[in-house]
Amino acid sequence: MSVGIVWFRQDLRLADNPALTAAVRECDTVLPLFIDDPVDGSVSRLGAASRAWLHSSLATLDASLAKKGGQLLLAQGKALDVLDAVAQEVGASRLYWNRCYDPASIKRDKRIKSTLVKLKPQSFNASLLIEPWDTVKSDGLPYKVFTPFWRAMARALDETPAILKPLTTPRSISLWNKTRQIKGSSVFMTLDALELEPPESEGLWHHEMLTAWQTGEAAAMASAKKFYKDGVHFYKEGRDLPALAGTSRLSPHLHFGEISPRQALHRLLAGRTLSELSPNEEVYAKEIGWREFAHSLLYFFPKTLKDPLDVRFTRFPWVKNHGAHLHAWQRGMTGVPIVDAGMRELYATGWMHNRVRMIVASFLIKNLLISWRAGEAWFRDTLVDADLASNTMGWQWTAGCGADAAPFFRVFNPVLQGEKFDKDGAYVKRWVPEIAEFAAIHDMGKNLHKPWALDEVLRAKLSYPEPLVDLKISRQRALDAFALIKQN
Ligand code: FAD
Repeated sequence: MSVGIVWFRQDLRLADNPALTAAVRECDTVLPLFIDDPVDGSVSRLGAASRAWLHSSLATLDASLAKKGGQLLLAQGKALDVLDAVAQEVGASRLYWNRCYDPASIKRDKRIKSTLVKLKPQSFNASLLIEPWDTVKSDGLPYKVFTPFWRAMARALDETPAILKPLTTPRSISLWNKTRQIKGSSVFMTLDALELEPPESEGLWHHEMLTAWQTGEAAAMASAKKFYKDGVHFYKEGRDLPALAGTSRLSPHLHFGEISPRQALHRLLAGRTLSELSPNEEVYAKEIGWREFAHSLLYFFPKTLKDPLDVRFTRFPWVKNHGAHLHAWQRGMTGVPIVDAGMRELYATGWMHNRVRMIVASFLIKNLLISWRAGEAWFRDTLVDADLASNTMGWQWTAGCGADAAPFFRVFNPVLQGEKFDKDGAYVKRWVPEIAEFAAIHDMGKNLHKPWALDEVLRAKLSYPEPLVDLKISRQRALDAFALIKQN
């Protein structure tokens, strides 16, 4: 009787899972396995919020497998050693997984393929519409500009609609489930023993954070359906208004593979081609394209995890002794309302609206002159959708040092951004209660987004920090710093 291991990674779903489908087709019994690999896998780079999400998502996947008569097996350690040990313990003869595209995972997976040859490892694409090496320019080089990248990808998708046809959940899966062997094993662990959730000493912040979400495959698909029914038809405008639920909030589901981009787009298209989408739907599909672009960049330029794509920025004179500024930014205490609202939303829910991500990132990089890498690291720790590809691209884009990036001299003015995209201050009031309570009693006039401009008597009554920096002076300081690296 053949046993095939399906190694779940960023594909925590049963539908549209080519590794699982292949294992079901080729093996008598399937052993579903997740490995927390703190050594060299991408999981090791997960921050606290993502680990909490992962805990919940693994529990949900386990429950889905239980309905099919089995369970998700869990282990911890170097993936190569764990897979070898599991194969020996259960007598597995085959190994299946879906590919990841970050450099550490690629290196690890190559080693596993060449070492565990006896398991005839097979890998598949499950987390991208088209893999990076299949969307390149006619000269074989990678795209560094989004529009031609997406044009090429959209053309391929329209020409070959089969690419977008998701696989269904295998109707019957014969799952390996030898309870006694699992209990007596030195390899398999319980979910709690993986310690993905924060230690008790940190309190129950993760429970509160996850009340904003439902993890797992069914919840991901339900969110997509709901958004396609209601939200997407207003997306062009709605996606810029942080007070509204104007975006799909699919990002953590896509990151952990609770839904595939193929499923997401297939459902949106509902039998149409990309060129037949409405303008709102088209803008939304393009955002899925940005996710693909981010993965392509990370695949072709793995050094961008640490280094700017535009090498001039390696000499950028970032402020080194930023002292309390970074901490104030992280905690939403900069004194700039829309920045603080965003940072507090992030801390409370593990997510932040895209428009506000750009504003807070620009403020850190340009007004505080703190390196994008400090912001990237904080986002990686606190976002439930923290993704090496999209996060790196988002930060380098804002810093002006990435591919197709916003020019460095484009410094977001957080006051104007607030006035334009949070006109009545609903978003700021939701996340900055000091301002909400104050505004309920006092007339802040046009100063909700710039409380430092209130008259002295009123300002003294508002218990909220003064801005860390003067926006005009700090903007000029950033432009001067940029001029230096341009000259050199
Ligand atoms: P929607 O607007 O509903 O978009 C649908 C999907 O498209 C998203 O779920 C996401 O997968 C993808 N998408 C949308 N915008 C982008 C984008 N600009 N880049 C790449 N993919 C995109 N996104 C992450 O998934 N993980 C990150 O770690 C991350 N870090 C970011 C850091 C910065 C500084 C910035 C400016 C952006 C970052 N983004 C990141 C991109 C974007 O902010 C989020 O994908 C988006 O806010 C998620 O919300 P949503 O699912 O409602 O998006």
